Amino acid sequence: MFISFEGIDGSGKSTQARLLAEALRAEGREVVLTREPGGSAGAEDIRRLLVEGPPDRWSPETELLLFTAARRDHLERLIRPALDRGAWVVSDRFADSTRVYQGAARGDDPAEQARFAELVEALHRLVIGVEPDRTLVIDLDPAEALARATGRAEAQAMTEAEDRYESMGLGFQQRLRAGFRDLAFRHPARVRLIDGSGDAAAVAARVREALAAP
Ligand code: C5P
Repeated sequence: MFISFEGIDGSGKSTQARLLAEALRAEGREVVLTREPGGSAGAEDIRRLLVEGPPDRWSPETELLLFTAARRDHLERLIRPALDRGAWVVSDRFADSTRVYQGAARGDDPAEQARFAELVEALHRLVIGVEPDRTLVIDLDPAEALARATGRAEAQAMTEAEDRYESMGLGFQQRLRAGFRDLAFRHPARVRLIDGSGDAAAVAARVREALAAP
């Protein structure tokens, strides 16, 4: 069983991936908890190339190739062997992140978004070709994700933090959220939208419910 968690930055998906892995282990299953970009030694090296250095280090095309190369290594070295021996794999992000970050939400020109969405799918078909059995999108308003990230509720702190978030692209986070919601709408059998509001235990209960549903 291959399960992926998806969502915007600060949605709580990493916490939920960990909680699910712990719960499944407590039931006696072998669980491989992993993440993207990264997850295997080679893919973690590629992750460093992607997240370190200036944001404009790579062209959009090169960046997409690097994410895809990292995923191919992750799949070959970690995910496939784990699934083959009957383990459950819980991954914090997988191919849907690339569909949204490098595809649907890329820039604000619809023609460019469509061109990249096509490129993402073509590469996926050529070198990945695998979807998780179930994908859980932790859906949260970007403003709430921001409030969590700052961990402070005072009005002044919020305003300052919002300014910072805005400069990092609140609009981008909103496009990401819309992109993930659209995937859930287009692939209802695989992709389930989970309300990410409330405390981690409440969200974890929704995750278990979504996994139990047919
Ligand atoms: O999920 P995580 O925080 O580990 O992701 C690392 C960084 O890579 C984040 O800033 C995320 O927004 C970005 N990312 C991306 N495209 C992906 C996956 C992650 O830009 N396909």
